[in-house]
Amino acid sequence: MAQIPIFSEDIPLFAEVILPLPGGVYTYAVGEELRKKIGRGSLVTVPLGPSKIYTGLVRGFVRERPHYGNIRPVFTVHEGFPVIGDAMLRLWSWVADYYMCSEGEVMRTAIPAALKPSGLTDLEIGQKSYRPSTVVSVGLGEGACEPGRLNEAFEKLSARAPGMYKALAALVEALGSDDPFGKEVPRERVDAGADVLGRLEKRGYIVRREKELLPGEGPRDEIFPVSLLPRLSEPQAAALEGIREAFQTKDTVLLHGVTGSGKTEIYIRLIAEQLAAGKDVLYLLPEIAMTSQTVSRLKKFFGRDVVTYHSSYPVRRKTENFIRAATSRGGTLVVGVRSAVFLPGQRLGMLVIDEEHDPSYKNHESAPRYNARDTAIVLAGMTGAKTLMGSATPSLESYANALAGKYGYIYLAERYGGSPMPRIVVSDTTKAVKRGERRSHFNKLTIDSISAVLERGRQAILFQNRRGFSPYIECPGCGWTASCPHCNVTLTYHKSEGSLRCHYCGHGESMPPFCPACGTKGVETRGFGTEKIEEELAALFPGARIERLDRDTATSEVRFGGIVRSFERGRTDILVGTQMITKGFDFEGVSFVGVLNADNLLAYPDFRASERAFQLLTQVAGRAGRRQEQGLVVIQTSQPQHPVIVRAAAGDYTAMARAQLTERREFFYPPFCRIIDIYLHHPDRQAVTAAAAALAGELRRVFGRRVNGPQPPPVDRVRGRYIERIMLKIERESSLGKARKLLAGKIEELQKDEKFRRVKIYCDPDPI
Ligand code: ADP
Ligand code: ZN
Ligand code: ZN
Repeated sequence: MAQIPIFSEDIPLFAEVILPLPGGVYTYAVGEELRKKIGRGSLVTVPLGPSKIYTGLVRGFVRERPHYGNIRPVFTVHEGFPVIGDAMLRLWSWVADYYMCSEGEVMRTAIPAALKPSGLTDLEIGQKSYRPSTVVSVGLGEGACEPGRLNEAFEKLSARAPGMYKALAALVEALGSDDPFGKEVPRERVDAGADVLGRLEKRGYIVRREKELLPGEGPRDEIFPVSLLPRLSEPQAAALEGIREAFQTKDTVLLHGVTGSGKTEIYIRLIAEQLAAGKDVLYLLPEIAMTSQTVSRLKKFFGRDVVTYHSSYPVRRKTENFIRAATSRGGTLVVGVRSAVFLPGQRLGMLVIDEEHDPSYKNHESAPRYNARDTAIVLAGMTGAKTLMGSATPSLESYANALAGKYGYIYLAERYGGSPMPRIVVSDTTKAVKRGERRSHFNKLTIDSISAVLERGRQAILFQNRRGFSPYIECPGCGWTASCPHCNVTLTYHKSEGSLRCHYCGHGESMPPFCPACGTKGVETRGFGTEKIEEELAALFPGARIERLDRDTATSEVRFGGIVRSFERGRTDILVGTQMITKGFDFEGVSFVGVLNADNLLAYPDFRASERAFQLLTQVAGRAGRRQEQGLVVIQTSQPQHPVIVRAAAGDYTAMARAQLTERREFFYPPFCRIIDIYLHHPDRQAVTAAAAALAGELRRVFGRRVNGPQPPPVDRVRGRYIERIMLKIERESSLGKARKLLAGKIEELQKDEKFRRVKIYCDPDPI
């Protein structure tokens, strides 16, 4: 924990407290009785408004009474809660500054809800505040505390109480049959019900002890002798050496290793070294989709030293894991998605950013709009830790940094165990139609390949980046399509529910039997999503066991895990899915991967479209043939000559990267400039257009031609609000801090105008 300063009692003292609100920082008086307990990074409860109480975090202290009105006192200091360390506070303030939001908004993301009850009354705070959970350990009791008594106990129980007998035997085994006396093991290691253990305890054969689970005190009964660590192949060992060497001179290293090259095993070796040296390690993953497989691989080696973190965890688990991670002083491996960047231990030695190219590291939906990869690198800089980023398809930003010598760069060109890279075949959809070689949404090559795979008892993955049955419906009579009343998008048809749904706001309605515009009967579905593919597959391969992995089926971590496990264990033959299935999975049985429509990957109106399409195609292809036999990948497209398709099929990352970097330099896009997108929202189109025009005009006066737009984004109305966007492109050499300040000033000025006060404006730095 951070040092708690001792404040002299006769000088007034005021605490600057971050509250989880857009407003940010508020000042409170610190009473004498609290001065010994309070420090920078303490959690405190404070009043706000006439009756509400908030939990906030002390950012610092001032001696001068602030000039404004009535200063209220800090109510209580949460002792026993982790003090947020100095590096973390500096990181918060960097995030707030760089991503243009308040420290309160950073706090909202950085700390689990249970630790910061908001807007409650005094009484509720008492009820809601977090109580740490406990662990139970079990050992032998008085009645079995030496060999003679233990034998007696077994004899008695064997005749009359087989249940208890079994439980006692299980305990003895867990304790170590040679010498089970005077020891304890965690409750979970004893395979017996609570009721049986209760009865054993009553008779004095066992004792149970309950302890609060304190930081770094999770029962550690698993260790990782180096002999148990994965033995690396020669190329892996060379890569590991290369990384070590690069770390001598660089703080950040990019490990570019083809899919299936065994990057995880290399991470594991480096993590083990750090933990053994008493350091903490933070391991970031892009999405829940990947955590299950990777976490179980990591747990195999690091057992209980692994703390996992995901924003969708139940409150209690999240809070517990937060406290364990944030208070660790060495020896803890924190594994988590985006927001886990805010909870590494206090002795951070290394950060691993797996699949660093993944767009889900960036939060674009609400403040703070941070990129966890970039934030992690900044954190490493603040703490002196090293950063290792890994990917089979590095982001162009990271790749450019590697080319420039800013990052160390290690390339791992072959798969582990000599597995061949998959063979990738591009299948022309237009030609297939002309030749009569297309059935529903499958080219003949795809169908034949699936048949062959099924016949050999192997598995197939089919990728379509749209969920639902069909992305829109259309009247064959008049061309009417169903669109969302709140957003400017078509409604997606979900057949199993018989409903039309908006993927932007969640609006739902039922499928109309007649066209609401002209009355024609039988509105038709157009295009196809994963649900339709699943249905068509069932008709084409009636014997096959088919499952679907997308946001509609993987509604929880448990459901998600179920689908993945069933495929892993070979209980499913074909897995259909969206981007979810492209990420980092290692399935042994997959021999075939089909991409059903690469065209819509190429069609995004975004400067990153080509990079993204290449990454997605390469990643999904990389799921095929991860063991001895070579996998086959078929990419269905009507643009077989498109450079991205050609390069993805050839597995030529370098060619893609070179071409894209040239284009980005020419048209002045990242990594050759930095972008800040400015969004304006309002229910009234006129208001938002006028505000955007006014702001762009003002910005041009300072930024000149760096201002692009305003222009509405492709979906220009969401949840009843019209959207305009202004793009600011700033040279890498010029001061971004100054630009942010100027920009924030212009926005503030604009919002003073009565006409524009209600237009919501926010900035999205480094958009993805
Ligand atoms: P990547 O993440 O680079 O795509 P993985 O880490 O998933 O590759 O590795 C591919 C497969 O090879 C996994 O099943 C992994 O367990 C196995 N593997 C990789 N390295 C080793 C090793 N040194 N010893 C044993 N198995 C390994
Ligand atoms: Zn019609
Ligand atoms: Zn909608």
